[in-house]
Amino acid sequence: MAKNTLKKLGLKLTPQRLAILNLLEGNTKHPSAEDIYNKLKPQYPSLSLATVYNTLEVLVKAGEVHEIRIKAGKRCFDPNPIPHGHFLCRICESVFDLDIKPLEIQTPCSIKGYLLENYMIYFYGICPECQEGDNIKDR
Ligand SMILES: [Zn+2]
Ligand SMILES: [Zn+2]
Repeated sequence: MAKNTLKKLGLKLTPQRLAILNLLEGNTKHPSAEDIYNKLKPQYPSLSLATVYNTLEVLVKAGEVHEIRIKAGKRCFDPNPIPHGHFLCRICESVFDLDIKPLEIQTPCSIKGYLLENYMIYFYGICPECQEGDNIKDR
């Protein structure tokens, strides 16, 4: 991603936008816009939440970043363009990549006349870390 991506998308290359891209690059933690904002704000005091949202919006539209809606009311972002499963831990509320392929579908493809461009698979449960000790609350 980084610089060429911004140029390709016609976005002005600002230090803030570059920082957003750098933070997303290779990021497997699926940050929300607020997470990104809170992380970069100390380093870029002039950064606004609107800039974070705008930049993410453009990246999502361009297909550079995927929006994940595994959490109710919270949008998370993932720079990994390859379709993969996501796992939401109901205890620590972290979103993990789950590298299994329940569907062997190459995108884009056409299925029964529908042009399928991408798909999302969400799994819910308890992550390995939260299964240790007595973290497990009643089911
Ligand atoms: Zn957990
Ligand atoms: Zn992911």
